[in-house]
Order: sequence, then structure tokens, then C-alpha cells
Amino acid sequence: MSDPPSRRTRAAQGLGWIEPTTRALVPPIHPSASYERAADGSYPGGHSYARDQNPTYDQAEALLASLEGGEEALLFASGMAAATTLFETLEAGAHVVAPREMYWTIRLWLEDLAGRGRIRLDQVPAGDLDALRAAVRPDTRLVWVETPSNPMNVITDLAGAAEIAHAAGARIVADGTLATPALTRPLEHGVDVVMHSATKQLNGHADVLAGALVTAREDETWRRVRFERGYRGAVLGPFEAWLLLRGMRTLFLRVEASARGAQRIADFLSTHAAVDAVLYPGLPAHPGHALAAVQMQGGFGPLVSFRVAGGADRARAVASALRLFKQATSLGGVESLVEHRASVEGPGSPVPDDLLRLSVGIEDPEDLVADLVQALEAS
Ligand code: PLP
Repeated sequence: MSDPPSRRTRAAQGLGWIEPTTRALVPPIHPSASYERAADGSYPGGHSYARDQNPTYDQAEALLASLEGGEEALLFASGMAAATTLFETLEAGAHVVAPREMYWTIRLWLEDLAGRGRIRLDQVPAGDLDALRAAVRPDTRLVWVETPSNPMNVITDLAGAAEIAHAAGARIVADGTLATPALTRPLEHGVDVVMHSATKQLNGHADVLAGALVTAREDETWRRVRFERGYRGAVLGPFEAWLLLRGMRTLFLRVEASARGAQRIADFLSTHAAVDAVLYPGLPAHPGHALAAVQMQGGFGPLVSFRVAGGADRARAVASALRLFKQATSLGGVESLVEHRASVEGPGSPVPDDLLRLSVGIEDPEDLVADLVQALEAS
């Protein structure tokens, strides 16, 4: 046995926590919004009001911080609530550098903030460290990266990006949603804060909307994040926090099964005549493959994007002909999904209009391949 136990063991046992009163292995859900004061006005239970703290968060936050190797984690009502709360800690007019190819709603949010003069924004090609080096300035406060990126699966060298950000005196934040700490731990590569849409593989069952931030260290900015969460009330409900903890206990099994299925599908698609390109970092031909092989351990993630020969109409026809892959947004659940991303992201998106994004679940990969065979033929 390793000491401390491995991440896989810590996740499966929810850090080995036992409820002290009943010795229950599964933690209770605490719905209370308010907590009693003692006669002297103090809070002997350590909790006052559910907008600031809820005991149901404690174990999920502690487990996520432990898996990422961070000092503290905070849960939020969604991935967007986590990201936008972090940007709120920036002073007015702060300079931010972010990738052009990234999760689209955060990109739109940043563009909106910049349009209103709240921040100054430079967007660089995802994964391009030379462009990042050229874009940072002495007044850059935050560098945002996402690896692998959604939906283009671009890989960013986290250690290289962290070095550039820190040399400029900026903080670096990584959206780690697609890798999860089962595959990549950005803090180990010098990143300051990791952000997650916990709606995806962290929870894994498509039944919770949640977000999280994990910090390498508690500093002034982190205290501000905590303060902002409490003041804005961008918190998760106790039932959702409980479901998230339950989901995280099987994180490693699900992430590895999805990555195995995704690899099988990417290998299959890369040999198909009706497919122009497959964007999956597990393929040796992917430009980020060598880096991903070092930075990601145990697989290359659940997303496979591919470009359909014949253009947007054929891509949509393939999506409609799939039977096991459900046409739906989101990713990281146990069931596989397909989405025509350009239709979702609209004008201004860097995603090609012949691209389909697959979120690979934990079904039998051979069934999923057979579904793709019939849909590519039918279209
Ligand atoms: N980051 C990534 C990579 C995502 O895929 C998403 C959602 O799809 C988000 C952030 C936003 O998370 P949420 O939908 O939980 O607000």
C-alpha cells in the first residue's frame, strides 16, 4: 500500500471518511440553511449559514483538493459560476490572455467582459506557447488555458505556459474539465488554480450541474474567491454536492473506460474514407500526441471530434443517423453523445462546420463503432 493511499483508493473510499455519530460509511445530506449559535453568540458547530458553508460540501471539496494535489477546493453551482467568480477577482481593466479555441461560453463571456471594458483581452491560438509569450505583458494578471480543449482537443504544455505566465507576474488558471485529475493534475505542472465543470466526468452521470475551483495555495486571491462565492451565492445545493461525491468515487473506472472507448473509436474513424480528419490526442498523428503522452496518464480523454468528408450537411446527416449516440449537448456522462458544434456555437466560432463532437461513455466500444459504421454508410 502506498502512503498516503493512491488517488484511486482515496477516490473509491471518499477519503475513508466515517460519519462520527452513527459510524455511517456514506455521509448524510445536510439540507439546513441555518445553524444554531451558542449563548455567547459563537457557532460551536463551525457553520452559520448555507450560502457560506455547508457540511455536505466538505467531503467532496476535500476529496477533489486531494485528487488535484491542491490546498483547497470550492464547489460552485456550475462550471460557469466557478469561472466567472474567478474573473470577478480581477481588478477593473486587468489584462487577460486566453486561447481562441476553448470552451465557447467562457470565450463569449471573456469577449463580453472585454467589450464592456471590464478587462483587456488578448486571444492566442490554443497551445501556441510562442504566441502566448508574445501576448503576455507586465500588466497581465491572468493567463487562461484549457487542455485538452473542447471540442478541438488541442493540447497545451502546462509547465511551459505556467513558466511564461509567472515570468510576466501573472497567475495561470487551467480548465481541467476534459482530463479530470484522473488523467492530468495541472497544479503539478505549476498551474495556480484548476477549474472544472463538475457537470462532466467528475460527477459522470449527467444528473448534476456543478463547478469547482482548486487552488495550489491559499493566498489573497483565493480568499477573495471564497468571499465572492459566499456573497454571490453561487453555491451548490446539498443534494447535488452529495451526488457529486458519489460520482467521484467511481471517477477512475469511468474515465479509463471512456478513454479506452474513445481511443478505439478514434482509431476506427482515422481509417474511414468518409472522414477527413480525427482530432484525438491519443492518435500518433495528432500534433499534441507526444506532449499528451507525458502530460496525461491513463488515457487521452472522452472526447473525439472528427471532420466529415462532404461538409456540414453530411456531418449533420451522420449525427441524425446515429442510434446509440444520442444527439445532445454536454459530455462526460456514462452514455455517449454526438453534437454538431458549429450549429451550437454560432458565428464567430473557430470550430469547422463539418465537425462532429463525440462524448464517449462507458458502453461496449464495439457497439459504438458499429453505430458509426451504419451512420456513415446511411449518410
Ligand atoms: N469548461 C468546459 C471545458 C466545458 O465543457 C463546460 C461545459 O460544457 C464548462 C467549462 C462550463 O461548465 P457548466 O456547463 O457546468 O457551467
